[in-house]
Amino acid sequence: MSEDQFRKHLRAYVERCQRAGIEFVPRPRTAAVENNETTPVTLFADQPPVTSATVEERRKALQLLADEVKSCTKCKELAATRTQTVFGVGPVDPDVCFIGEAPGADEDRQGEPFVGAAGQLLNRIIAACGMKREEVFICNILRCRPPGNRTPRADEAANCRPFLERTLELVRPRFIVCLGASAANYLLDSKLSIGKMRGKFYDYRGIPVLCTFHPAYLLRNNTPEPRRQVWEDMKLLLTRMGRPIPEVRRGPS
Ligand code: SF4
Repeated sequence: MSEDQFRKHLRAYVERCQRAGIEFVPRPRTAAVENNETTPVTLFADQPPVTSATVEERRKALQLLADEVKSCTKCKELAATRTQTVFGVGPVDPDVCFIGEAPGADEDRQGEPFVGAAGQLLNRIIAACGMKREEVFICNILRCRPPGNRTPRADEAANCRPFLERTLELVRPRFIVCLGASAANYLLDSKLSIGKMRGKFYDYRGIPVLCTFHPAYLLRNNTPEPRRQVWEDMKLLLTRMGRPIPEVRRGPS
């Protein structure tokens, strides 16, 4: 791409952001970000930072971001094999954002995250917590289905990370729940197993993050123990949120 083309694309992008009420973009990953310090970069010197954007402005910005994702081809293999991109679903300012790994076959077909069997189980987990699916935001580390549902590669997660970061910036969840090792490892830059990461809170730019098993893992390992552990994690979440813990006899099934 020539310098002129680059300038043209950049100007169009900045204008789209401006129309949508986005006034800053995060710095690239730096030591400060590694230490969970958020340092906004002002895009428009004469405007206040995005913290002042209204709910409606952030909703519009999310829609623009989803439109931008639709034409993304950064991961050549995924872009060539996907049916469609799967952005994320839910309201802005939710209490919880659930982050999974990547769309599967059902999600790729329907364009919405967690709509297959694992999604049905996630819905039951959410309901067991006394919440509704429509109240929470749900997305994935990747917005495109890896062929054969293989695990996302590090380069793909890195390609898609700016979309995830901007989504979280606009959605502003109070809590994040990472479902499975891919979500936990890529969001928190960890290499630990999900078994080691679950059961405690981490921090992503000031947002408390809890990690637990992916619902697909619960379906593959149909034994009581992982389900009990997920329920223990959800009870931890509810306690930290200040919500009552509903009576559930043996965890969501
Ligand atoms: S996974 Fe993300 S970065 Fe990769 S092609 Fe899809 S939208 Fe683009």
